[in-house]
Amino acid sequence: MIPQRWKEDIIEIGRMGRKVPQRIESYDQLDFEKGQYRLEGTLACQKSKEYVIAKMKEAGLEVRIDRVGNIFARRQGFKTSQGAVMSGSHLDSVLNGGMFDGVLGVVSALEAVRRMNDEGFENQRPIEVAAFMGEEGSAFKKALLGSLVLAGKMPDTEALAICNDENVTLAEALDKQKLRSDFSMELDDVEYFIESHVEQGPVLDKEKMPIGIVENITGLTWVNATLSGEENHAGTTPMAARRDALVAGAEIVTLTNRRANELVKSFGGSTVATVGKMVVKPGAPNIVPGTVEMGIDIRDSNPEIMQKLKAQTIASIRDLAKRHGVNSTIEVPFDHPPCPCSVEVVNAIERAAADLSIKTIRMNSGAGHDAQNIAEKVKTAMIFVPSINGISHSPMEWTKWDNIENGIKVLTQVLKNLSRDRRLY
Ligand SMILES: [Zn+2]
Repeated sequence: MIPQRWKEDIIEIGRMGRKVPQRIESYDQLDFEKGQYRLEGTLACQKSKEYVIAKMKEAGLEVRIDRVGNIFARRQGFKTSQGAVMSGSHLDSVLNGGMFDGVLGVVSALEAVRRMNDEGFENQRPIEVAAFMGEEGSAFKKALLGSLVLAGKMPDTEALAICNDENVTLAEALDKQKLRSDFSMELDDVEYFIESHVEQGPVLDKEKMPIGIVENITGLTWVNATLSGEENHAGTTPMAARRDALVAGAEIVTLTNRRANELVKSFGGSTVATVGKMVVKPGAPNIVPGTVEMGIDIRDSNPEIMQKLKAQTIASIRDLAKRHGVNSTIEVPFDHPPCPCSVEVVNAIERAAADLSIKTIRMNSGAGHDAQNIAEKVKTAMIFVPSINGISHSPMEWTKWDNIENGIKVLTQVLKNLSRDRRLY
């Protein structure tokens, strides 16, 4: 029987992330007070990295930490030192997050190489286990930060200068924890990347499907709008004389929701649009709202539909604001196109699971992941395991141990298969 050391790893890292450290081994022990606070730069995050590094070394891996704190652990190739197969995820959490998001992917990759050790498997290409720095962006205010630098999409100097809420730069935080060095990982030398992750959505749990293979990571854009009307007395301002910013804002919410529903109906796709932020000022029942700040999140796996909805949203904000005599300013803080995964890697995961008689479905990821940055340079796909009730970024996040074991089995098999260097035959 394979010892469940991976289960111990997940429980132990989860313990490190809680305000009151506590081991949680089953779903019924969870409650809303037991969330993870393992933000990048915190002592809890440092401890989780030190724990993982110790386990990597114990497994005989060569550990290197790069300039921005991404951790890599290599099982040398038996035939070549080139074209590595990489797998991993992140150890940081959101504020009051769950114990599987990120951790599962790091521990699964680590466990895969431990199983190779147990079996004496000889990987021809090198295998790299990765733990990316600062995926959630909860402390250093930029999501996917470690992989962004790794993929060459942001200079390391820029990332290292970002401050957290305590005005500490990323460089200062990582130096204090001794968790960065001059090493730099070259993605040109990586042939494949697989990130295992909890689904963070309801599809697999609902369909009782053990594994999802991600074919496409969603595109994501935000539209921020500020509507400026006129703050005035709710009793003495006649209806006709009002410039009510919230009335315009309310129509934008309804219209955005309706449009997204229509697009899903017409194209059957993965369109989602959410007005998740609405700050009403001054925010008193007896004052006509003067200003409304809105944040709209739009996602789709189809780039044309996403751009269409974004353009329609911006046009209708302008139009509705005008109709209600309100000024509008609009900004788009980011606009990430959808990221298709590698067909070769998707097929490899599907074959590995079929060989193990584990059922799979292909799906989209509605959340962003480090994999989307790596995918720009490396053939990439993701393995999803079910999240109970689709809950994530919450203390109630849970994935059944059996499902994690299935995910590890598939990951181990596909890493083994991909680590065979066909050029050598
Ligand atoms: Zn994650």
